[in-house]
Amino acid sequence: MPGSLYAALHRLYGTQLASAERNSVQAAQRRALVADQLLPEPFPPDALANNATLPGLRIAVVGAGFAGLTAAWFSENSAPW
Ligand SMILES: Cc1cc2nc3c(=O)[nH]c(=O)nc-3n(C[C@H](O)[C@H](O)[C@H](O)COP(=O)(O)OP(=O)(O)OC[C@H]3O[C@@H](n4cnc5c(N)ncnc54)[C@H](O)[C@@H]3O)c2cc1C
Repeated sequence: MPGSLYAALHRLYGTQLASAERNSVQAAQRRALVADQLLPEPFPPDALANNATLPGLRIAVVGAGFAGLTAAWFSENSAPW
């Protein structure tokens, strides 16, 4: 029965949130996790903007577990270089 799993999940957890509403809920959850010190604060993008040595910096992450993949993703997506 296609769709029956989604119907069951919707019955259990309610209908899927719209994208903006989901982002808002996730932002609130992130803020709560940061306040409880369970998640690091976002790295301010301009914190290292004046560091002249960073643009040539290369990073190697060894180990593709949760920590390694997270470090690699943040280095690629939120670092200023
Ligand atoms: C059976 C089991 C069930 C679990 N279930 C849950 C769960 O339901 N929920 C939960 O939150 N956590 C769970 N955990 C714990 C969770 O998996 C770990 O806390 C998490 O994976 C730790 O992440 P990590 O990045 O520190 O290490 P890992 O995920 O272990 O990543 C380390 C990576 O480094 C690689 N590596 C190691 N040495 C080298 C080397 N010399 N060179 C190159 N690569 C190397 C390894 O192959 C691996 O890919 C479970 C763990 C186990 C064992």
